[in-house]
Amino acid sequence: MIRVRFAPSPTGYLHVGGARTALFNWLLARRHGGVFVLRIEDTDADRSSTDMVEGILDGLRWLGLDWDEGPHVGGPYAPYFQSQRLDRYRTTAERLVAEGHAYYCYCSPDAIKTKREAAERTGVAWRYDRTCLALAAADIAAKERAHQARAVRVRAPERRIGFDDAVHGRIEFDGSHIEDFVILRSDGHPTYHLSVVCDDVEMGITHVVRGDDHVSNTPKQLLLYDALGAPVPRFAHVPLIMGPDKKRLSKRHGATSVIEYARQGYLPEAMVNFLALLGWSPGSGDQELFTRSDLIARFALERISGGNAVFSVEKLDWFNQQYLWMLAPDELSRRVQPSLASAGLWRSSYAADRRDWFHAVLQLLKPRAKKLTDFVQLGQYFFADELVYDPTAVDQHLRAEGARDHLLAVQAALDDLDPFDVRTTEAAVRAMAESRGVNAATLIHALRVALTGRTASPGLFEVAVLLGRHRVLARISSAVALMESSSAPPQSHPS
Ligand code: GLU
Repeated sequence: MIRVRFAPSPTGYLHVGGARTALFNWLLARRHGGVFVLRIEDTDADRSSTDMVEGILDGLRWLGLDWDEGPHVGGPYAPYFQSQRLDRYRTTAERLVAEGHAYYCYCSPDAIKTKREAAERTGVAWRYDRTCLALAAADIAAKERAHQARAVRVRAPERRIGFDDAVHGRIEFDGSHIEDFVILRSDGHPTYHLSVVCDDVEMGITHVVRGDDHVSNTPKQLLLYDALGAPVPRFAHVPLIMGPDKKRLSKRHGATSVIEYARQGYLPEAMVNFLALLGWSPGSGDQELFTRSDLIARFALERISGGNAVFSVEKLDWFNQQYLWMLAPDELSRRVQPSLASAGLWRSSYAADRRDWFHAVLQLLKPRAKKLTDFVQLGQYFFADELVYDPTAVDQHLRAEGARDHLLAVQAALDDLDPFDVRTTEAAVRAMAESRGVNAATLIHALRVALTGRTASPGLFEVAVLLGRHRVLARISSAVALMESSSAPPQSHPS
């Protein structure tokens, strides 16, 4: 039975790197019918907060990465917050002392600092000098009686330490470079190495999939597995995510928080597909679109690449567009609704008697949308009562020679057109152009600015039909009024 965990420290939001680590763990668990554990590593009380925890959970929920054990769902190894497991770490540290794998260190931080600085002045890399390992039993007993503050250090053996990483292959370290590191501080708080290994052992974690930045922590953790007599899980260290400039992904490159992408109107299924292919390849040629079940069916740690992955927003946009395309009309409108609502453009009729109209508008706008939020701007002239005119468009096409008369003629032709559909409106406008001796494009450009306020839109006659005759005629009147006013065009004008 495969048991994996995602173990975030709630000192920030869920960033894309963490989300990808969570996704790989989740895929591995789902692939093998295993268990995905969510464990909150909040031992650093000053830097952790419940808001951050909830933010991380929201990010995971948005991505659809459900956890089998962890916060809110519980499980056989509860609690899943390290801050509630401190007694276990203390007991384990005591056990390691009792079994001779660790020892009490009474050296004060100041004393260690002084020694370290002295060593550094002579150019020697400092390692704890094992002062307290050399203490006689009587000295220890005396210090204990005096309740002297003490940390617990592991005795690091001087041998080579290695492991077979699922991504990088064999990795070896020279154990003689590892000092006797602290696993329990004098205030009774565990260090990361102790808490992570204790929990991975107790929770029966079989595979540790985490970022490359933890490779250097692994030898110390291997020593702890060894000291505890526990089986070592399979490690897979996933290469870091870089920005397009090959520097570690950071805010300089844009949003790094998963929830920020949700707010910006990305679809979780696009994000999942995109993140899955950051450093992992399903080995299927050029295919890039994979449903969640495809990803599960194909996932294997061995296909994670050892090279760093590059995060490209353009690529994410591409995925998002593909997934937008695939959404059924009802689903698309359900997802667009929050963006329109926050722009004050949502009407309840869009989900009721104007549902078909709303679907048709979304279908028309869809080819130009990359994100859900794009529909607000793209569809402004459909959803808002006030038309926003682009001043350049007005100057170019409405203030052009003869535009006013052309538009009034078009208005008259459309007034009693029956039926009012794409074919008839187009034929009417083209016939009008011909009879007035102007290029059809000239009329179409002017009409487009009158109806949408812009120079670019989907097919103008589709737009006109969806706006409906009444609004088309009214907008032409508004445009004419605008042309007649000698002042500069206002930012917006009633349609
Ligand atoms: N809590 C650690 C972190 O957020 C992860 C520990 C691990 O995966 O071993 O970096």
